[in-house]
Amino acid sequence: MSVDVDIIKARAQNEFRLSKVRGEAMISVRIPGGILPAHLLSVAQYIAETYGNGQIHLTTRQKLAMPGIRYEDMDKVNAALEPFIREIEMELCEVPVDDTKAGYQAIGGRNIVACQGNRICQKGNTDTTGLARRLEKLIYPSPYHLKIVLAGCPNDCAKATMCDVGILGVARMRFNAERCIGCGACVASCGHHAVGCLSLKNGKAVKQESQCIGCGECVLACPTLAWQREPEQLYQVRLGGRTSKKTPRVGKIFLNWVTEEVITQMIPNIFEFEKEMLDGKPVYLHMGHLIDRGGYKRFKERVLQGVKLNPGAMVAEQMYWAEDETVGNIHIKSYAG
Ligand code: SF4
Ligand code: SF4
Ligand code: SF4
Repeated sequence: MSVDVDIIKARAQNEFRLSKVRGEAMISVRIPGGILPAHLLSVAQYIAETYGNGQIHLTTRQKLAMPGIRYEDMDKVNAALEPFIREIEMELCEVPVDDTKAGYQAIGGRNIVACQGNRICQKGNTDTTGLARRLEKLIYPSPYHLKIVLAGCPNDCAKATMCDVGILGVARMRFNAERCIGCGACVASCGHHAVGCLSLKNGKAVKQESQCIGCGECVLACPTLAWQREPEQLYQVRLGGRTSKKTPRVGKIFLNWVTEEVITQMIPNIFEFEKEMLDGKPVYLHMGHLIDRGGYKRFKERVLQGVKLNPGAMVAEQMYWAEDETVGNIHIKSYAG
């Protein structure tokens, strides 16, 4: 049966992806932060079993993807997504949606990936779930490409360092010297898990302040609560990480010790930068390639334009990516056996 479906439009507007099976597509459900009310899984099950091939793929961007959707069922699938769009996008993320039965309206701003953060993980400095939900309305719906990953601490289990904008929770540490009994547990822990910026002097812990990455391992290690996190949630922002066929690379530190307000002011500017670099045409291109195109200086000036930095915030003066590796320009040898 021939079906009149503009799959390119459906892909750009409704989170459908082409399938290698002719006449079939895959729908993906956005789950900002990778956490959802459990009862919505039954909606995914219904869609997969009614319109798809009965399978659900847990994607690398923490989405639920249901393959095997026939083109003629796309409108029905969009309507069936209503509980996801209403409960996750509208209620949890406060995204304004005109028609909850019309499917997703753009896929440029990709699903925000996050580790468990401090709601669950004892090492977490920051609430990644809450942040993912607050940022969702800034990136969805947008036709411009942006990948954000959140990690609750510099351990970076979520691989925030491998995406356009990686946001890692950091904390300033408060030290109560009177509580310190000089046991050395924090010194050992910082050395083992972090950067080794602690030592003991005259029976008390001392820190090389400029080396501290704000991870919180010392807090976990200390038996007397001499180390405590300051309550303010702060972030390190890593920039330009990517996987891709063309020069994959690891993100570098762009901002450090910034507040959420800095990040929320910056994100609309990122889209403006992308728009300028692409002459208003939202074609798929990793943001890192756009930074390469415009240069870090131009990126930094545009993205921080009008942004009020908090006291203590740090901005990278320069950005150097060493990776330029492709098969054509690295020194490899072919072995004939
Ligand atoms: S990145 Fe940190 S907060 Fe997140 S899961 Fe890993 S250890 Fe926990
Ligand atoms: S917060 Fe700083 S001092 Fe504490 S373990 Fe991490 S790097 Fe070391
Ligand atoms: S773990 Fe606590 S008590 Fe032990 S040296 Fe460090 S700060 Fe002092």
